[in-house]
Amino acid sequence: MKVYKFGGASVRNAEGIRNMMEIVQHENDDLIVVVSAMGKTTNALENVVNAAFAGNQQEAFEALDVVRQYHYELLQTLYPTGYVFQQAKVELYLKDITELLHDFWNRQHAYESAEHQLSMNYDAFYDSIVSFGELISTHLIFLAFVKAGVPCELMHMPTLLRTDNTFREAKVDMDESKKLLCDFLDKGQRTKDKGTLYIAQGFIGGTAQGERTTLGREGSDYTAAVLANLVDAESVTIWKDVPGILNADPRLFEKTTLIPELTYYDAVELAYSGAQIIHPKTIRPLENKHIPLYVRPFAAYHEAGSVIKDTTAKPIDVPVYIWRKNQILITVRPKDFGFVLEESLHNLFETIQEHRLKVSLIQSSAVTISVCVDNSRYLQPAIEELQQSYAVTFNENLSLLTIRGTTPAVIQEVTEGKNILLSQTTRRTARFVIAGEVRSKK
Ligand code: ASP
Ligand code: MG
Repeated sequence: MKVYKFGGASVRNAEGIRNMMEIVQHENDDLIVVVSAMGKTTNALENVVNAAFAGNQQEAFEALDVVRQYHYELLQTLYPTGYVFQQAKVELYLKDITELLHDFWNRQHAYESAEHQLSMNYDAFYDSIVSFGELISTHLIFLAFVKAGVPCELMHMPTLLRTDNTFREAKVDMDESKKLLCDFLDKGQRTKDKGTLYIAQGFIGGTAQGERTTLGREGSDYTAAVLANLVDAESVTIWKDVPGILNADPRLFEKTTLIPELTYYDAVELAYSGAQIIHPKTIRPLENKHIPLYVRPFAAYHEAGSVIKDTTAKPIDVPVYIWRKNQILITVRPKDFGFVLEESLHNLFETIQEHRLKVSLIQSSAVTISVCVDNSRYLQPAIEELQQSYAVTFNENLSLLTIRGTTPAVIQEVTEGKNILLSQTTRRTARFVIAGEVRSKK
């Protein structure tokens, strides 16, 4: 069994879907194809959720119409001679969404008390709606294979990938998911000579109570890794719109170099620093079972791309540049100067964890602790909580630049003329918190 993953960008239009189908048909093994929502559908559904949550019904339906139109246009180019059947499927999903919206508003009206408002959990509502992006994309892709005469099976991850109810960032129950998955695969009709093709939603799962959950934005890579771990896959391949893993983001840097081989350790460091190539959570389930992860170019599928595995023949020999955008630098200082580092660290991280902030850098001085975190909707309450015990200063709209395998000359070149709020260097890694959205393309 192998696992392939196609992101939203790869299946954003008819051409991408045809290309994906061609790639898949080159594979003779049993194959699970993990697919994200098409194009920017997840963002579009987030707009529906936000409008709905704010009680703005008209805006919510307008946002839903954007989702509808996008999928119809895609179907129109995929099936120039007609797509009534596929359109009807999309419409069924949209009807489900519409029902969920009405249900939500009805409850909102019924319970105006604070207690019930609390139970109107934004995160749970978000997951129930946003998960449709993947449900629609996989169903349309399943239908496209069927129409092309390629036998395949559609997996329904809300019932196959069991998670807890940490909505928007659900934790996978590996044992339970393994049981559900093995049961499903054992029942599958496998043909003897040619492998079976399965289509699975990335990013989504479900609780034992039947609620849909999501695993965190960009979580489809993680789904692919978890599935590979659970079925003991031989490899995972993530098909991307880049030639493989590069030493810098080609949208920001003019000259980039392909890194053909990386260790799991390299990959975790890169992903954590903000390299958008793979989701940070992806590596662990693979490393645990020594499953190699290939990152290959979607548009040139005969090319090898990069591979992440246990050991490599040679270490990375170019500096690697990683930008992590939309950062906030928070500095806390005890109000009474009674600074006990360990105690403050403990309190600070407790608050951070409670509010689900993602820390990208930590630095301390005699009386302050600074952390860089991703901006998020949980930030404000976290800061308010910290303000009760500390003097808090924070700067928004920052970027974190990490350079691995660096030299003084490299640092000089990249940081020249930039407004650096904090820097940190350790052996061959340098990290800078820089004001604004920094682009380094000359
Ligand atoms: N569709 C989800 C997102 O855009 C998951 C993914 O793309 O990996 O965040
Ligand atoms: Mg996506």
